[in-house]
Parts: sequence; C-alpha cells; structure tokens
Amino acid sequence: MAHTSSLHAWLYGQTDFAPDEEVHAFQYRFLVAIAVTAAICNVALIFVYCLTAWGQPYLPSIIACWLGFMLVHLTHWGWMRRHPRQLLRTGLRTVLLYAANLFASAWWLPSDPLLPIWLALLVIGTFIMLGRVWGWGCLGLALAGGFWLLSLQDLSAYPNIYATLCFAMVASAIVGHIYVARFYYLYDRLEHHQQELQHLASHDSLTHALNARAYYEQSNAQLQLCQRLGLPVSVLFVDLDHFKSINDNHGHAMGDHVLRESCQVLQHCLRDSDLLGRVGGEEFSIFLPNTTLDSAYSVAEHIRAALEGLPILFHGQVLRVTASIGVSCSPAHASPPPAMERLQQRADQAMYHAKHAGRNRVACEEQEAAQVS
Ligand code: GH3
Ligand code: MG
Ligand code: MG
Repeated sequence: MAHTSSLHAWLYGQTDFAPDEEVHAFQYRFLVAIAVTAAICNVALIFVYCLTAWGQPYLPSIIACWLGFMLVHLTHWGWMRRHPRQLLRTGLRTVLLYAANLFASAWWLPSDPLLPIWLALLVIGTFIMLGRVWGWGCLGLALAGGFWLLSLQDLSAYPNIYATLCFAMVASAIVGHIYVARFYYLYDRLEHHQQELQHLASHDSLTHALNARAYYEQSNAQLQLCQRLGLPVSVLFVDLDHFKSINDNHGHAMGDHVLRESCQVLQHCLRDSDLLGRVGGEEFSIFLPNTTLDSAYSVAEHIRAALEGLPILFHGQVLRVTASIGVSCSPAHASPPPAMERLQQRADQAMYHAKHAGRNRVACEEQEAAQVS
C-alpha cells in the first residue's frame, strides 16, 4: 500500500483534488499517463530502429528527434506535476506535442505510410482529455494533417489509404463523442443520486430538518470551532405542547402536518449558520453559534411567538400550536468548555422548567421560566 502511494506521489506529484473533482482527477492522470507513455515510446522506437534500420542514412537524425521529444514529454510531465489544475492548458499542450512528435517522425520516415493512423488516437484522446468541442475540432485538424502526412509518403501500393484514414478518424471521433457523452451523463446521475442519498441519510424525511445523528455531528464540530475561537454558543430545546392531544383529537395525518408547518416556522426564524435538528417525535434542538444567552433568549421568544401566531390549516380545520423552549449557553471562553451533550441536557432541563411553569414559554437554564403574554 505504501509502495503504491509513493509510486502515485512520484507519478502525479502532490495533487489535492477534492472528492467531487473525480473527473478532473481522472483527466489529469490520463494526461500524465500520455506524457510518460509518449516518452517511453520514443525510447522504445530508438531501440527498434537501431535493430531494424541500422546503417540507414536517416537513423542518426531520427534518433536525435526521438531523444529530443522524449525530453520534451518528460519536461511537460514535470510541468504538469506542478500545475495539476491547469487542465485546458495541459491538454492543449499534450495535443500539440503529440502531433509535433508524429509530424516530425513522419518527416524523417517517409517510408512508413501507417504513421498517420496514430492521429486517430489523438482524436479519441482529445475527446477524453478536453471534451466534445475540442474533440471535433481535433478531428478536422487531424484529417488535414493526416492527408498532408500521406502526401509525403510513397503510396503507390496503397490505393485506399486516404479512405481508410478518413474512416479510422471519423470512427474514432464518433466513439469518442458517444463515450464522453455517456460518461458525463452517467457521472451526473451518479452525483445526483449520491447527493440524494446524503440528504436522506442526514435529514428527517417528514420535516426535512437534520436528523439527530447529523445534527449532533454538525453541532459538535461547530461547538469545537466556536470554543477554539473563544465564541459563545447557545442551544434551544423546543418541545411542542400537548402534541399528543393533536394526534388524539385530529388524527396522525394532522399531527404530521403540524410538525411540518412548525418546522418551517423554526427554519424561518433562524440564520443560515444555525443548525436545526429533529431530535425526538415533537422535539427540536437548535444550535446557535456565536450567540450569547440574551440573544438566544430573544431568538427563542421570537420562535415561541411565531409558533403561537401560526394558524395551521388542514382539510378545512384550523389549529393553533404552542411550544415550550429551554435555552442553555456556553459563554465566550467558558472554562471548562462544556460538551454538546451537556449543553443539550441543560437546555432540556430548562425546557422542563418552562413546561412546569405552564407551557408556551421560554426558560433559560438556572433561571425562572419567563412569563409571557
Ligand atoms: P407535553 O406538552 O408535555 O410535551 O405533551 P405532549 O403531548 O406534547 O408530549 P408527549 O411526549 O406525551 O407526546 C408526544 C407525542 O408525539 C406522542 C407521539 O404519538 C407523537 N409523535 C411523535 N412522533 C410523531 C410523528 O412523527 N408524527 C405524529 N403525528 N406524531 C408523533
Ligand atoms: Mg416531548
Ligand atoms: Mg410535547
């Protein structure tokens, strides 16, 4: 495993693509693979030609050409490792280098009529590296370049070679287009499903508030951050009053409707940075970062009044709902800093004070329930 990761680091450098940048990461690795393979191919060609064309007058200059291109591909690889995010520039440079390598080889080897076939690889590679628009553009250039390369060759023994070249390139372009279109379509669907799954795993399906697990996970992380920055945080525990009687008198569907509507009201009263979780049947917990006890009390009072004033309509019936809310706070630079679990317990206890004091009210920890209305 350590061996694989050190090879990986050596090949690709210190890349830091995020999990949602898989396509970019793949394109980057593909470009690196092309540069390294092209360098190896140039060396391999030198060996093959030394074995098969020893003594030919063109051999020294073609060896110099391939050695030169090997160095250019390796330099390009080194540049890519330092700039892994400049994909368009890297892709275009790869296409140009690959084409230049081919054209230079063809220039020195006019006796190899098969050389232009390699341009078909360039077409399909461009679709994968740079997408469909650049892919089709590359096909036009590859056709023009291929015909020019062929014009340098002795083609008396190959009457159909122009048609074959055209066919190979257009077929490569069509395959590249279909493959890339399908790839992006499936990737988008996968990403969409992944987001849906993530939402389902972290949210309550009835109210769309965070579920208890996600709420505690996120509020714990936020609490630690606030404590490190020396900021105060507050927690509200909201429990709907006499909710059981709503179910008993109006049915479960009405109860569900009340839960949804109440949750919307809570959401509406909060800032984007606050966290709202459904932690029990008709119980919600709210995490308020960078909020003092006084401010948290104001938010709680605002929520209480908003719920009390909300007419809930369902199948022609109008209902009113109230809530008892407990507030706890960890002041700035609290020592020792309380854990989320403890803050939640304190808010829960304060909520029970509010219940015992007559419901539909807000109570802060260690304080008498504040009389309202
Ligand atoms: P209190 O004022 O003391 O909080 O009384 P309460 O009736 O609200 O509290 P209690 O704990 O006695 O009842 C809570 C009820 O919430 C019981 C349960 O049937 C109901 N409940 C829990 N989850 C759901 C749900 O998802 N949908 C519906 N419709 N009801 C639910
Ligand atoms: Mg309850
Ligand atoms: Mg209740």
